[in-house]
Amino acid sequence: MGHPETTRLEDALTLILGAASKQKRETENCPVMQAYGRILAEDIKSPIDLPQTDNAAVDGFAFHTDSLAESPERPLKIIGSARAGHPFDGQVKTGEALRIYTGAILPKGPNCIIMHEDCTDKGNSVICHKRLSAGTNIRPRGENLNAGEVVGKKGHRITAADMGQLAASGCAELRVYRPLKAVIFSTGDEVIDAGRMRQTGQIFDSNRPILAGLLQQEDIQIIDGGIISDKKEALVTAYQSGLARADIILSSGGASDGIEDHSQYALREIGAELLFWRLAMKPGRPMAAAHKEGKMIFCLPGNPVAAFVCFKLLVAPAIDALSGRIPRQPLVVKIKSGFQHKKQAGRAEYLRAVIQTDSTGQQQIALHGRKGAGVISSVAGVDGLVEIPLDAIAVELGDMLNFIPFQEQAL
Ligand code: AMP
Ligand code: MG
Repeated sequence: MGHPETTRLEDALTLILGAASKQKRETENCPVMQAYGRILAEDIKSPIDLPQTDNAAVDGFAFHTDSLAESPERPLKIIGSARAGHPFDGQVKTGEALRIYTGAILPKGPNCIIMHEDCTDKGNSVICHKRLSAGTNIRPRGENLNAGEVVGKKGHRITAADMGQLAASGCAELRVYRPLKAVIFSTGDEVIDAGRMRQTGQIFDSNRPILAGLLQQEDIQIIDGGIISDKKEALVTAYQSGLARADIILSSGGASDGIEDHSQYALREIGAELLFWRLAMKPGRPMAAAHKEGKMIFCLPGNPVAAFVCFKLLVAPAIDALSGRIPRQPLVVKIKSGFQHKKQAGRAEYLRAVIQTDSTGQQQIALHGRKGAGVISSVAGVDGLVEIPLDAIAVELGDMLNFIPFQEQAL
């Protein structure tokens, strides 16, 4: 028997994104205050200039530069005041000044504002000690945004800064895509839930908690499908009920081709179209992806580290495509290797890594934790993944490698 065919990560991604783009996406309204993490379903343009008027950037006195053109120390007559939310109605003429506070609308007349600390306030008049040019300390109308400018792009995932900007331009409610629902289940006769009495040979499920955490990070509604036994019929039922309840089905375990591994059989039984079932990647070789009517099914490896890495590299992009999001481009930074490593050609490796500083103060990548696809301690506490290319057979100290940081370590 020849070596079974494996799919490269980039080809697997193309297949997944192609299938995910067939999903029909529903939309709903969402108040801006609750919009964090939601995906915009339409472009949003600011209906107003921001700020809507010229206004004061400092506390001080507003006047026209012509007033001091001939004698810079000439006292200017104070004719009133303007505060934020309390505009001054009149005009400020040459030779006059208006007491003004940050955020107040600039009335007709003045073209600059002198700060308190740069003048002497005599109560009825003010003497300036600094020469100002037109525009000094004035925030011009439209400095932030012009009416018609796009403040939110369709497919963009809303951040805290976006919420501020959208509200600032007067937007109270957004049209967003309906959040995705995912069913997660684990498979294996040896797997039980933490908190239960354990018998010899049984292990506590770590994949469902990992997947639950990763999905919470993505703002996806989770339906817990529990633990499914290693029986063909049980798996078929689990996938079928998943398809009926969710947009995305994530199972772990039973994805290779051993006698206990029935996920491929189950996928055929439910009429799903298989996209691939072995990856040219480590960890993560035994992994299948399939789709049916725009819904995606991922049979992730049973080994917890492999399940985690496959989620990050393949499921997260699929979630983007399914949820209408413009696919995120994970940050990839080139950093020198602080470790040596040997591998076989033909499989890209994604090792768990941390960033350290060497004796000269330069950053380098160090491997984290114990080796092996089942060693969950190697993912807890990592900064990200280091990629060892498919064709490489060794990594030497100082080699420049791609490092993909995880969100947890970013600000
Ligand atoms: P499998 O792909 O089902 O052959 O599983 C590969 C390895 O991962 C086996 O040692 C399983 O016991 C282990 N494993 C499978 N599912 C889980 C799980 N949910 N939590 C922890 N380990 C698991
Ligand atoms: Mg199993």
